[in-house]
Amino acid sequence: MTDPSSPLPPLFARWVGSIVKDAIPGESRATCATCAMCRPAGSETPDTGARADPSDPASARDSFLYFEPDAKCCTYVPDLPNFLVGRILDDDSLPPHGRTSLAARLDAGTRVTPWGVGVAVPTALLLRHGRDAFGRSTTLRCPHYVPDLGTCGIRGHTDAVCATYFCKHDRGAVGGAFWEATEALLLVVQRDVARWCVAEIGLRADALEKLLCLDERLDAPALDGRETDSRRRALWGEWYGREREFYRRAGEIAGQLDWADVLRVSGPEVALRADVVSERWRRLSSREIPDRLRPLPHEVIAASRHFVTVSTYRATDPLEISRALYDLLPAFDGRSTPEVLAATARSRGFAPPPEHVRALVDFRLLGEPEGLSPLPRSPESGTSATGR
Ligand code: SF4
Ligand code: SF4
Repeated sequence: MTDPSSPLPPLFARWVGSIVKDAIPGESRATCATCAMCRPAGSETPDTGARADPSDPASARDSFLYFEPDAKCCTYVPDLPNFLVGRILDDDSLPPHGRTSLAARLDAGTRVTPWGVGVAVPTALLLRHGRDAFGRSTTLRCPHYVPDLGTCGIRGHTDAVCATYFCKHDRGAVGGAFWEATEALLLVVQRDVARWCVAEIGLRADALEKLLCLDERLDAPALDGRETDSRRRALWGEWYGREREFYRRAGEIAGQLDWADVLRVSGPEVALRADVVSERWRRLSSREIPDRLRPLPHEVIAASRHFVTVSTYRATDPLEISRALYDLLPAFDGRSTPEVLAATARSRGFAPPPEHVRALVDFRLLGEPEGLSPLPRSPESGTSATGR
């Protein structure tokens, strides 16, 4: 069963839902319709997490990171596995731009193979070297982005990277760790399921041999973003000229897989990564406060008499807390947390409520010695170099 309220696209929601066995909440602070990373219209004050305070110096406010409204976080191009291409082709509810943008990629033929629709070499190079322009450069903007609407044209069928990206997480680093693990899992899933689809549909032996030896060429056609007809024929074998039909079949095959099927048709890495997702979900579902805490390194990006804004686990998700709470951080010196809270209540006349302490842990202002460590990225996650 697919959970219609899941923040994930339906197929991924069904698969990941079977791992966590619960409803996955959306990220309420990643307000895409009125992008949380863009400067509010008519305002000089950024709204990226900081509270405007008249006593804040303008220079501190200006140090915040903004995205351009006509780019947002869509300065990325997805590597679409064959089954997602098929599902996009079959989805009449998408905005016209979604389907025409995919048609343009298919017609250009660059890295259009039975595995799926890959990213053209020049674009991949730009994305890899343009990390600092993430969220700002329209040159890097995804072809599936609908500028007039400010939305995704292939919504519901996005790849593992787009499906799991949120600029902000309600539970800070704990939410970020869950989505990062889910992205790493889905990258492997989409690779393995795409391979399963090719095996199920069938491809002539000579074409299969070419497909399995595909390399990242940097010859003239690859650099010019075009594909030679002879190479396309060689890669597609008996499916040459019927590529869309091939993708549609892949979409149907993948659409019938439940999570047990995915585990059966994928390599063992999927099961291992699913275990990591399960563990990250357990942490995300818990509000327990660790027994002992210490302050963690962070960057103060704005401060006033009443508030302090810090950057901790991710530049796009700063946290603003009261000056009083911030000044309590050194009190967490490794003694038991109840002991620290009792001592602060005695000495300062107030102790923060548990949910505030938990937020400090979630956003990595406080942590256990071992803490949450970032999940090593999958080798398939080459696109993460874009800054996503
Ligand atoms: S996820 Fe992207 S579109 Fe949504 S609020 Fe964040 S930056 Fe804006
Ligand atoms: S596929 Fe959609 S969500 Fe992903 S970058 Fe393109 S427009 Fe944005």
